[in-house]
Amino acid sequence: MIQTPIAIVGMAKSGESAERLLLARGFKKEDLLTFDQKAPAQFKDPQALMSQGKPKTLVVSPGVPLKSPWIVEAAKSGVFITSEINLACECLKDEKVIGVTGSLGKSTTVSLLGAGLSAFDKNAFVGGNLGTPFCEYAYGVLTGKRPRAQWVVLELSSYQLENCNQLKLDYSAITFLSANHMERYDSLQDYYKTKWQMIEQTKGPMFLNKNGGDLLHFAQKQSTYSRCIVTSQDDKSLLPHVLSQSALLGSHNQDNIALAAQIALHCHWPISTLQAMKSFQGLEHRLENLGQFNGIRYINDSKATAMDSVLTAVTVAHEYLTPEGKLHVLLGGRDKNLPWDELWALKDLSRTEFVFFGECRKIAQEKSDLPGPQFEKLEDALTHIMNIAKSGDIVLLSPGGTSLDAFKGFEDRGNFFKEKVQNFYSSKS
Ligand code: ADP
Repeated sequence: MIQTPIAIVGMAKSGESAERLLLARGFKKEDLLTFDQKAPAQFKDPQALMSQGKPKTLVVSPGVPLKSPWIVEAAKSGVFITSEINLACECLKDEKVIGVTGSLGKSTTVSLLGAGLSAFDKNAFVGGNLGTPFCEYAYGVLTGKRPRAQWVVLELSSYQLENCNQLKLDYSAITFLSANHMERYDSLQDYYKTKWQMIEQTKGPMFLNKNGGDLLHFAQKQSTYSRCIVTSQDDKSLLPHVLSQSALLGSHNQDNIALAAQIALHCHWPISTLQAMKSFQGLEHRLENLGQFNGIRYINDSKATAMDSVLTAVTVAHEYLTPEGKLHVLLGGRDKNLPWDELWALKDLSRTEFVFFGECRKIAQEKSDLPGPQFEKLEDALTHIMNIAKSGDIVLLSPGGTSLDAFKGFEDRGNFFKEKVQNFYSSKS
């Protein structure tokens, strides 16, 4: 039970949103305490918070480990531990709720479900770990700023799943299981179990991606496995829906769309939702398929600031080349001592050309030892490519380096890329 004073532990986006909801629920400003070791907050030191603020409730952000000794101590002495997700759940009525978790593919699958919902339910809420915090939805409904949703789709991280006992899901899905966040878990089993526990809070089936790394192997050993529906791009029941025509690039995304489509069909969403999912171009700046301009496909993967991401993006883009097409890859930005030499693995890739740009253009080229011209600015590198690219070619921005040499962030860099491409072709038509 929530008792005052209430301390909000972690004042990032979800903490701020929890504070807004608590105020809207009638708690007074003086009932609330804020704690954060980095962001602005009343308390920065946990000892001071507990001894001076004497909170009876802690709303703990997913960013703060529940195993922190002072939180364990607080719980032992009777302080009520809850979360932003729990607070939002207290405001739900008859919404149907779908929870999605996984080590990879959560955001894409959640966004695919969101794209599907947009075809028939304009009041749907899609958020949680991705985009808008769940409390923001509850706040909107409580204050009459938005209508209640028929469907809610929540992306749930394992940290959120550790602290959301009031969450009741109608359906749930796990996209993938692989080693991640090992700094916060005692073992891989512990991490996987945290995700698997979601089934205990799910009324209907839990959907699993058959090609989800360790997922199937782990799932088959669990007593609740019989409550799961396993699917993937090879699922014969999905063949009539030709999901292969999806705008999303890459085989892994075929599995994500299969999972989302299987949920949609099971929930009896109208068939138009599948078309909307197929038209979904991907999350902005992550292998985002911008479509074709004069027969040349442009892909914005501005978020790629690790060599693994670049290698994946180049491999995926290469699969889409027509027999005569060429792949042009834009590499560069700001270096953060990256292992550019790993890109040497791409040296024998057929019909692939590299163009280097930005502050680290020299380092990137020297360390990767890949051939290609260098340009100081992304704009000049892109213009060079746009002038030589031919119908059937693919242009991929998957830079490897960060954007901070010339942009505010990867979003800013991706938007610049998209704008330049659009302007170049609209000025030609
Ligand atoms: P998350 O929200 O779990 O971080 P995203 O949907 O943002 O996941 O995808 C992040 C990256 O994970 C993608 O760029 C891709 O490389 C990889 N990925 C996504 N879905 C899958 C999948 N089903 N199988 C394997 N890898 C995937």
